[in-house]
Amino acid sequence: MSEADVVLRARSLKKYYQLSGGLFGQPATVKALDGVSFELSRKQTLAVVGESGCGKSTLARLVTMIEEPTEGSLEIAGMELANASAETRKALRPKVQIVFQNPYGSLNPRQKIGAALEEPLQMNTSLSKAERRARALDMMKSVGLRPEHHDRYPHMFSGGQRQRIAIARALMLDPDILVLDEPVSALDVSIQAQVLNLLADLQERLNLAYLFISHDLSVVKHIANEVMVMYLGKPVEHASREELFANPRHPYTQALLSATPVPDPARQKQRIALKGEMPSPINPPSGCTFHPRCPIAVARCKTDVPETRAVGAAKVACHLAE
Ligand code: SF4
Repeated sequence: MSEADVVLRARSLKKYYQLSGGLFGQPATVKALDGVSFELSRKQTLAVVGESGCGKSTLARLVTMIEEPTEGSLEIAGMELANASAETRKALRPKVQIVFQNPYGSLNPRQKIGAALEEPLQMNTSLSKAERRARALDMMKSVGLRPEHHDRYPHMFSGGQRQRIAIARALMLDPDILVLDEPVSALDVSIQAQVLNLLADLQERLNLAYLFISHDLSVVKHIANEVMVMYLGKPVEHASREELFANPRHPYTQALLSATPVPDPARQKQRIALKGEMPSPINPPSGCTFHPRCPIAVARCKTDVPETRAVGAAKVACHLAE
């Protein structure tokens, strides 16, 4: 991939929230995202993986411009967002679209599918009614819906079809980047595969970059080019899909992978049980924030924050990774 293909670049991206009543009623800072760097190019999928509270949803909100970073740099289509004017932000907004886990929640139950698809065009373009209808019908065909679906309501579709509608709606303004926030977690396994295949096909045809947010490594394995594993607001491992699944180096990645079912039960790895729950980001552990749950922690893990460093073909934040 060349520099010209990079459509999203984050450098040391941070998002902190100030709470008025933290531990013992004291003001507290929640470091929801604490130094995230990556690049994403056209026709590439970066999966962001971790348990609830790891920072992946905060990252989605920053990339989709719902919230602004506290610190760091975020470039969309080569434009830095930090000091962007309101006009630049408005121009960049259509370039990033989001698809949520529950398409029913993002579709108006009283709005016909055709109207839902044409609405972004009505608000952002000067296309005529006939042109908007033609574009909606084209997009419906691209996602596997039939022309007669145009005048139906969301409740008349299956879960898989509704997710196709949500994808079609996200594509109406020709974005460069789709943020896919757990897009298949609510679907049956057989339908998941169909939607993942559709996403792969659309990416190739429309030159799209995907930021794929997920807690499920078995889904990620089918769609990602690269995987970034996050824990308490920080990336702990970032590698190509092949590298990450063949040689997971961070103990947290190893634990997540050991919990992922494999098709051949004889090859299922022994499950690594993590101790306890994810700690509160209001009062994170010292040193390596993973140390209270880490099965191989040593004394320095409690005091020294591990730097992210190259280990083989991966970037890993662990004192002991090799
Ligand atoms: Fe475990 Fe220490 Fe590595 Fe953190 S730095 S993951 S506690 S071994």
